Amino acid sequence: MGGDTLAGRWEAVRARVAAACRAAGRDASEVRILPVSKTHPPEVLAQALAMGMRRFGENRVQELRDKAAALEGRGIDWVLIGHLQTNKAKYVARLAAEVQSLDRLDLAQALQDRLDKEDRTLDVLVQVKTSPEPSKHGLPPVELPGFLERLHDYPRLKVRGLMTMAVQSDDETAVRACFRMLRDLRDCAQGGGHELPRLSMGMSGDYPLAIAEGSTEVRIGTAIFGVRS
Ligand SMILES: *Cc1c(COP(=O)(O)O)cnc(C)c1O
Repeated sequence: MGGDTLAGRWEAVRARVAAACRAAGRDASEVRILPVSKTHPPEVLAQALAMGMRRFGENRVQELRDKAAALEGRGIDWVLIGHLQTNKAKYVARLAAEVQSLDRLDLAQALQDRLDKEDRTLDVLVQVKTSPEPSKHGLPPVELPGFLERLHDYPRLKVRGLMTMAVQSDDETAVRACFRMLRDLRDCAQGGGHELPRLSMGMSGDYPLAIAEGSTEVRIGTAIFGVRS
């Protein structure tokens, strides 16, 4: 089932998301799929567009710029999911619909300044580091409450929720613990008066677990577009 085509993989992922929702007693409409198109060329994204995908996750600003230029006017919402340097904030402020990797105040300031110039707003998710791996970016969990308070100073950033990457591990318990931590942090912040409906968690290797733990958005690259070279 599925077949090794873009259409086949897309159908298979949608079916598996729906099955994970059923297993968790959730409605399939509660979980969005963000196709992660990093490393894949504009021609592949054009095929994906024809199949109804409209939002694409990219992790590098230069690549997002190149693809936004190649696919201009096609109605795409570009979502930055990778680490963002402040000196690239201007391109993101101009081109992206959303940033899921906000993890520090100097970046919030840089985005706010650039959004002022563009007269735009940006949906943002705060990336939290729920795994101990040094390679992973994100705000330390203990800093989240204070960080959310400070974000009130940047009104062009519309804070919609939290994002995380789980530990890379075969140990399902350890992976689920990362997702559960993000949900608990969100619930706690909501109790403190912050409206954070979105939880972006789950990738090709772990999204059914993330859905079981309350994910509202899974970021899927390999399972849709194939293995990256
Ligand atoms: C690449 C990437 C993904 C998708 O990874 P796959 O394992 O290919 O699904 C998700 N989130 C982030 C932040 C990424 O960089």
